[in-house]
Amino acid sequence: MAETLSKDILDIICCPMDKADLKYNKTKKTLTCTKCKFIYPIKEGIPVLLPPDLQDKEDVELSKKNGWKG
Ligand SMILES: [Zn+2]
Repeated sequence: MAETLSKDILDIICCPMDKADLKYNKTKKTLTCTKCKFIYPIKEGIPVLLPPDLQDKEDVELSKKNGWKG
């Protein structure tokens, strides 16, 4: 399985809440919104671009620590 997301995918996807660009963290395997700071997890190589109320609680907590205001 590919360990990195292809650049093509990164060019296409954006934050579902504000349509801002996402920054890929290769080490943590997450995508962080450059605008609202929400952290989207990548599970089994697939970015989970769901709104916060559908994300796991732990992921939402991480986003809050990152500066996401909800
Ligand atoms: Zn956002």
